[in-house]
Formats: sequence, structure tokens, C-alpha cells
Amino acid sequence: MEKNMYLEEAQKNRERIREIRRDFHKHPEIGFRETRTAAKVAEYLEQLGLEVQTGIAKTGVVGILHISKEGKTAALRADMDALPMQEENDTAYASINPGVMHSCGHDGHTAMLMETARLLANNKDHLKGKVKFIFQPCEDIIPSGAKPMIDAGVLEDPKVDGIFTVHLMSVFPEGTFWVKPGNSSISGTDFKVVLKGKGGHVGSPHEVVDPIMMAGMLITGSQTLMLKTTAPGKTMVFAFGTVHGGTATNIVPADVTLSGSIRTETPESLETAIADFERMVKGITMTAGGTYDLEITLSNPSIYNDPDLVRLLKGAAGKVLGQEKVHEFTSVFPGGDDAALFQQKVHGAYWYFGTGNKEKGFDKPHHNPFYDFDDDILPLGAAVQAQGVTDFLLS
Ligand SMILES: [Zn+2]
Ligand SMILES: [Zn+2]
Repeated sequence: MEKNMYLEEAQKNRERIREIRRDFHKHPEIGFRETRTAAKVAEYLEQLGLEVQTGIAKTGVVGILHISKEGKTAALRADMDALPMQEENDTAYASINPGVMHSCGHDGHTAMLMETARLLANNKDHLKGKVKFIFQPCEDIIPSGAKPMIDAGVLEDPKVDGIFTVHLMSVFPEGTFWVKPGNSSISGTDFKVVLKGKGGHVGSPHEVVDPIMMAGMLITGSQTLMLKTTAPGKTMVFAFGTVHGGTATNIVPADVTLSGSIRTETPESLETAIADFERMVKGITMTAGGTYDLEITLSNPSIYNDPDLVRLLKGAAGKVLGQEKVHEFTSVFPGGDDAALFQQKVHGAYWYFGTGNKEKGFDKPHHNPFYDFDDDILPLGAAVQAQGVTDFLLS
């Protein structure tokens, strides 16, 4: 295989990329409080000669690479936030901020996108159009940063024609590229339902309306109903996470509160599932003579990957990693990302870059206190992003 130009350049800068990633890892910041990270990113982009905007959606940073030849506008997005948890790794670059850890790999995303900006800025004479580098605050905690970034206009002026986002992923082997055209991640929602009856003495069942009985009917009934309304082969997760009600053996409580999650393949199937569930809640409470309150908290919708951009990005990844490292997965990925919101507005492709390596001990799941990965994959990911944008702008 011919050696890829971007990969060669990124490999030469490997030490610096590692240093940047480890610095972020050592100084993790919770969503919307990424002030140190954002300042480092902004300074780096300014040194590259990019137009830089800061303070977008509190701590977001956008860099724009202007190229003399007219053309399309490509965007790349990285998230910068860490999680509220204690790191258990014993490395020189382990978190020094108690109770805060980069356990999702966003330190890697940020360092990778900074390198991609350097690669494209250094080679802009071969390109046309514009490139936007979007460094987003708070991906992991809802309400998250994508929506306020979009509301602040990051997809406009210049209007973005295509957006690319990567997430490091420990379930895939180190250095492999994974993507799925169409809906590629689940749509999810949390719910809280209060079943309201009429409390009283257990000895007078004719005078009470029993919410515990309603809860029992709802738990078993909804499990059956939700499975029965899902097409064969389609993903549906429906689960109760909490059930609270009652204070004593001889008192019928006035209400019972349940909460849980629903996850499906598409935003449409999620809407149907929520409607099915509410109908069941309504039916059971009405039959029992009670009432209810239902609270729905939508999390991320499914990420929709544009099939043409997926094809283009797979080609670009093949040029950098070799075609044997490029894979498509077939069923929707169980995790979500608010990158889905960008891709509801503009065509996009969201891919996973494998970091899993059991021999090196890099096989821990994301959000685990021992999560880590080998920084040596970052030049590869940066080069895939640079090649993807290049192929997009020149196509
Ligand atoms: Zn995460
Ligand atoms: Zn993440």
C-alpha cells in the first residue's frame, strides 16, 4: 500500500499529539466547565492561522480554515468533556482532578481533531472550500452541548455541507474503522410514571384504589406489549429501573412511582413505543379507577449516517489504514451521542475507531474507572479525518 501523506505527517508529530492528549487526560473537566481545555484548543488553532471563535455554548470553540479556492464547507466535531467519576488508573498522566476522569476518550477526540486541523492547514494549497473544526462542550451529560452549539449557529455562516465525527471505541479491535449507513445508534428516552390511586386501610379494599396493583399490571403488561409491538429483528429495549411506593404492611399507598428507559432503532419507532406505553398506562389506571402523570425525557435520537458520505469516508479510511481495517456493522450501536443532532441538520457520517487491545490492558469499557487506550492510534485517526475531509472537498 502506498503510504498516505497525512498519515506520514501525523506519525512525525506523534510525540506532540501524545503530549497534548495526556495533558488533557491529566486535567479533565466536566461538561460546560472545559475552560482550560478550550483555552488550549483555541490557542493551538490560532497558531495554525485559523479564524477562531470561543465561548460558544459556554466553553465551545470553533476554528475555521479558509482556503483561497471556493468550494464546499466540511465540518469535523470533537467533544471535550470528562465524567464525574474517580480514575483508578495508576499512570503518569492519570487525572489529578479528584472525582473527574476522561473515561470516554474525549481527550483523544480533542487531541485528534487538533492534529487534523494542523494536517489540513499545512496542506490547504491542495484543497478548496472551507473546514470548520467544532470543539463541543458536554457530550456525556444531558442536557448536552450539541443543541446550544447548533442554536449558536455553528452549522451556519459558512453553511456546513457535510459533518464528520469519530468516537474511540474499546469494543472494536485497536486501529480498526467501523461505520454503519442509515440509522447507526439507538434512539433513547427515560420515563417516570406516577400511578395515582386512593390510599386507605388494606382491610377495606372496596374503599381504596390500589396503585401497587396498578404497578404490577403495568410492569408485566408493558413488558409483553412492548415486545409484541416490535418487528422481528428490530432493536427494542424496555426496562423499569426504579419502583417506589408504600410505607407499611397494612396501608394502601396513594401512589406508586416507576421509572425506566425505552431504546429503539429510529426516532419514529421510539415515538410509537412511547405512544404504546402511554396507552397502556392510561388503560390500566382507567380500569382501576386511578389517574397518572407521565414524564418523558428524550435523550439522544438515533444518529443518521448519510450513505454517500459513509461510502466516501470508508474510501478515505482505506487509504490511511488499509481496506482490511475498514468495516461496516449491521445492527444499531447500543450507545448514543448528541452528534445525532448535527446530523439531523446536515448530512454527516459518524464512525468508531477501535481502541481495544487486551494484551495492552486496553479492553475496559468506556465510563469505567480503568478505561484507557494507546495514544499511538491518534495519528491514524487524525489522518483518516484529514483524508475524509480532503476527499469530500475535492469530490
Ligand atoms: Zn461517554
Ligand atoms: Zn463519549
